Amino acid sequence: MVEKPDLLGMELTEIQAFVEDMGAPRYRGVQLFQWMHKKLKADVSEMSNLPKDFRQELRNRARITNLEVLQRKDDPQGSTKLLLRVPDGEAVESVVLRYEYGTSVCVSSQLGCAMGCAMCASTLGGLKRNLTTGEMCGQVIAAERVSRQEGHHISRIVVMGIGEPMENYESLVRFLRIMNCREGMNISYRRMTISTCGHVPQIIRLSQEGIPVTLSVSLHAPVDSLRDKLMPINRRYPLSELLEACKTYFRVTGRRVTIEYTLMKGVNDSAQDASRLASLLRDMACHVNLIPYNPVPERQFERPSRERVCEFAEILRDKGINVTVRREIGAGTAAACGQLRRLTERGPAKP
Ligand code: SF4
Repeated sequence: MVEKPDLLGMELTEIQAFVEDMGAPRYRGVQLFQWMHKKLKADVSEMSNLPKDFRQELRNRARITNLEVLQRKDDPQGSTKLLLRVPDGEAVESVVLRYEYGTSVCVSSQLGCAMGCAMCASTLGGLKRNLTTGEMCGQVIAAERVSRQEGHHISRIVVMGIGEPMENYESLVRFLRIMNCREGMNISYRRMTISTCGHVPQIIRLSQEGIPVTLSVSLHAPVDSLRDKLMPINRRYPLSELLEACKTYFRVTGRRVTIEYTLMKGVNDSAQDASRLASLLRDMACHVNLIPYNPVPERQFERPSRERVCEFAEILRDKGINVTVRREIGAGTAAACGQLRRLTERGPAKP
């Protein structure tokens, strides 16, 4: 049986073309888009300004993805982790992160991940499938419903959840365009961040899309020999090519790249590692985000001491590198990517 198209994953122009094809005027497409992305409705029966026969025809021809909240975990430090059911019964996770400057949602782009990074729990079961554009939009809508209950709105999107977004490129870009649309969430591209483990060709491609989002690159090692071991993608795209792609991204978009560096005790946290990282990034317009490792039971890595983290940051600062240490938010909600989903796979989490 052919699956009905998902209206939630369509850009506004596509919805307008879709309703025109049904014999309705284009403005019905705008109304429909607003119901889904502004008023957060997934049931056409509630779309009261649409004619009844048009609503019935929509039901016959299309569907609207709506992600059911299977589990919610709140952390006193300000994060809420949502485990959401996607239409085929799989579960996807998203995190609402509350900061002084606004509320962000961390979105997953795939079910599982094929990239095999040594420190990450999300890749242990491999890749099940890419998420659709509608399933990515559905995560933001679920997060926005949580935020509205608290009198806030989602103002930032970070695609840093489970999966490598660049491996799901077309759905990702369509998702970003939908989130930017003025008739819907209307989130500026400058408030969107895409994280990659270093997919060089897609970094170049993204730089040419005309959507100036922040690019965040997970580096985690200052030399190829170590990065080859920690992140298998480095064997395809070594550091020199990756950093060249980051420079291109900055040149084309004017957006400074964020370098994510997870500090793991005795692995990549020495003073020598810090000096090597500083020389590597010397002539790059970037910002380094140091992340003390959040241990997961399935991986053997440990978190370095607070002193080690500060020392590492100081070395970078002394060498003129812009650096911050990520605020520890969400550790209590199993916030390292893949943790909540894996907990539920092992058995129902205790309330
Ligand atoms: S860190 Fe990201 S890219 Fe690497 S395995 Fe985990 S989810 Fe995939």
